[in-house]
Amino acid sequence: MSDGPSYGFDTLQIHAGARPDPATGARQTPIYQTTAYVFRDAEHAAALFNLQEVGYIYSRLTNPTVAVLQERIATLEGGVGAVCCSSGHAAQIMALFPLMQPGCNVVASTRLYGGTVTQFSQTIKRFGWSAKFVDFDDLDAVRDAIDDNTRAVFGESIANPGGYITDIRAIADIADAAGVPLIIDNTSATPYLCNPISLGATLVVHSTTKYLTGNGTVTGGCIVDSGQFDWSASDKFPSLSQPEPAYHGLKFHETFGPLAFTFHSIAIGLRDLGMTMNPQAAHYTLMGIETLSLRMERHVENAMTVATWLENDPRVDYVTYAGLDSSPYSARIPAVCPKGAGALFTFAVKGGYEACVKLVDSLEIFSHVANLGDTRSLIIHSASTTHRQLTPEQQEAAGAAPNVVRVSIGIENAEDLIADLDQALARATA
Ligand SMILES: *Cc1c(COP(=O)(O)O)cnc(C)c1O
Repeated sequence: MSDGPSYGFDTLQIHAGARPDPATGARQTPIYQTTAYVFRDAEHAAALFNLQEVGYIYSRLTNPTVAVLQERIATLEGGVGAVCCSSGHAAQIMALFPLMQPGCNVVASTRLYGGTVTQFSQTIKRFGWSAKFVDFDDLDAVRDAIDDNTRAVFGESIANPGGYITDIRAIADIADAAGVPLIIDNTSATPYLCNPISLGATLVVHSTTKYLTGNGTVTGGCIVDSGQFDWSASDKFPSLSQPEPAYHGLKFHETFGPLAFTFHSIAIGLRDLGMTMNPQAAHYTLMGIETLSLRMERHVENAMTVATWLENDPRVDYVTYAGLDSSPYSARIPAVCPKGAGALFTFAVKGGYEACVKLVDSLEIFSHVANLGDTRSLIIHSASTTHRQLTPEQQEAAGAAPNVVRVSIGIENAEDLIADLDQALARATA
């Protein structure tokens, strides 16, 4: 089918990017388990390497199964192109790579996935890049943090570990005025709940490991390009606007227009960094995406039911779920994520660190894992696991204080989840 804008989300999540296999007519997208592709002749090979013709050369760069997934995610996010890679963290590096040079910085929200805080505050320093963390609710602070060396602003739509919703439009306006792209990590919301591009984001990154795959089978990542940023408006992005020596002097923006970032990410990013998604992983994620809207609806419904029950339980101090009226961020739902605030949230257990550890050990349906966005309900005590490498101040800022556990509510029967929490809370606070 042609991916006309008239099709609804439920149709596109099944069909976008996919066509019956040209060789066999196979209806489901085949897993093209191949490393290389035979050139028709030497001229064809030369055209492919010159990026004059789009086609397949080698699976570090492109693969037909991965290409279907890329087109599907780009369509669901409303972007012009997408590049998949090996994990969500790979996607973050791949998103920054065309923009940054040594000495450049990214202005990032303090409310981020713990691994992202570590990647940005420590590891990217080895590339000569740095991050400035600011509270995205303080718009003046965001504006002030952007300096001449800033090349991107980075936040999460619904922020991990949950309960926070970024005012994407307000942040996008600030980034726009400063002439830098806004990158939104849309992992926790998915394109079903939130469309960052329609709110002004330039790039959207995903850990496809989570809801997009939805069943906890494979790691993957994706960068979606809105195609709306003018890379040539300043001299800040020479790798996109100037002759790129890593691709024999090609000017990506002049040559590919709105697809400049996407082509750069394949021709240089995947070619030289090699953080490639494999076709098996793309297959599992394609299977998952077919039911994304159905799962997200149930995730949101269950999260509301469980969060409401917890909020009314005397053994719980507070619940930070943006879907609850008590949340300071519930007012942002209609503009940012009108179909719901996701299924990730934290709650504080009376009894602090010890009670949290006991709770996690007493649950039967909830799995104690460092993951989220699975069909299964998951729980983690962030302060002793995912966020343990952060300072206490960073833990607080990220919503991962010692007395708090994070849940990722699955699509089981809500009454079973509540019964499980009830018995575990009884043991934890006995
Ligand atoms: C999991 C996650 C990541 C990292 O993704 P991986 O696939 O684990 O590398 C980044 N951001 C968010 C919001 C995540 O949930």
